[in-house]
Amino acid sequence: MDSAEYERKIAARFATFDQDGNGTIDREDFSTAARAVLAEFGTTPRSDKGQQLFSGAEAFWQGMAGIADVDGDQRVSRDEFITGAAKRLRDNPERFAEIARPFLHAVIAVADVDGDGVTPQAVVRVLRALRIGPDVAQLVAAVLDGDGDGRISEAEILTAFAGYCGVEAPDA
Ligand code: CA
Ligand code: CA
Repeated sequence: MDSAEYERKIAARFATFDQDGNGTIDREDFSTAARAVLAEFGTTPRSDKGQQLFSGAEAFWQGMAGIADVDGDQRVSRDEFITGAAKRLRDNPERFAEIARPFLHAVIAVADVDGDGVTPQAVVRVLRALRIGPDVAQLVAAVLDGDGDGRISEAEILTAFAGYCGVEAPDA
């Protein structure tokens, strides 16, 4: 991968986390994401699933801040993301994905409306709610259902998330 490609991918990952598009990643972005997913599936924030999602979002933010908020101002700037998070994403995407596990678990609970597993269509709805482009959303959902049984497991989602986050650096 050349450095322009790397820059583009990192910018896309940053934009994914910067849900409100104000140029920094902070706690509000994570609660915005939680609200968007709840709205998509018509789940109220005060419900058990809603509360679980907000606490997962908070844990995700705390994990992200612990890795990347170097100056401790409760915001992750683009520079902090590149030097802190992106390095971690590159070196150990699985470990990074672990900080997202409670959030992803809660998202699955919301998206699994009928309680028999998450369908690729539900994953597409989640990704769309999180403002991830429809092309990417369809692609990701197809890749996610690795064993083709029409249901997507938490393990498949965690693996896909780690893959999405793991951006290779340009040849050093
Ligand atoms: Ca933001
Ligand atoms: Ca900061």
